[in-house]
Amino acid sequence: VLCVSQDFDFFYFVQQWPGDTKKKSCCYPKSGKPAADFGVHGLWPNFNNGSYPSDCDPNNPYDQSQILDLIGCMEEEWPTFSCPSNNGTKFWAHEWNKHGTCSKSVLDQHDYFQATLNLKKKVDLLQALQTAGIEPNGTFYKLDNIGEAIKNGIGYTPGITCNGDASGHSQLHEIYFCVDTCGSNFIECSLFPNGRCSSEVEFPSF
Ligand code: 5GP
Ligand code: 5GP
Repeated sequence: VLCVSQDFDFFYFVQQWPGDTKKKSCCYPKSGKPAADFGVHGLWPNFNNGSYPSDCDPNNPYDQSQILDLIGCMEEEWPTFSCPSNNGTKFWAHEWNKHGTCSKSVLDQHDYFQATLNLKKKVDLLQALQTAGIEPNGTFYKLDNIGEAIKNGIGYTPGITCNGDASGHSQLHEIYFCVDTCGSNFIECSLFPNGRCSSEVEFPSF
């Protein structure tokens, strides 16, 4: 299948590590503490020059009635950590309204969320890291080793972003992969996010 879109060049598929302590307060969703695993942050249309479109269609706002069959899966794979505790609807609505509407020439709301969940199911990031002996227990690892473990386990070079822990040390925050404009297949990235990681990165526990 040929994926062509006039509207953007590729997607970033972004997963967040829940142990990240950037957010001053972190709340669990109403459904309870999520699994100690990476969760979806979003599927973001992007341009090759690094800019990206956002909020592309105010007339097509998030409508949960279109994705009722996906909600159970989203609660597991796409949990929110924002406060106050909520059921995730705000997070998903934000992601559709800001990013998803910019992909609507190829994906309607149901397709967009379904495509994102399908991508999540294709990659087991935690498994890839643990296979290489990289465990979420507060240990520091070489950024290069984290990248290699993911490349070896998943088959694609990840973008890795970090933030600072309470004492200012670099800690793992998010993992980016690039995806074709159909939202179906991983591709090698031609452009990586500014990761702000030091050469040694903490993998916090959750
Ligand atoms: P942060 O500053 O936390 O990295 O990003 C804030 C928000 O900006 C993200 O949640 C996302 O909505 C958007 N964003 C940041 N970097 C990128 C990017 O490289 N591409 C796209 N499409 N969105 C981004
Ligand atoms: P972005 O604009 O970076 O795609 O999305 C981040 C927005 O989603 C922020 O406004 C944030 O308040 C909200 N949000 C809700 N739950 C989460 C979460 O678990 N992680 C992140 N990064 N943002 C969340």
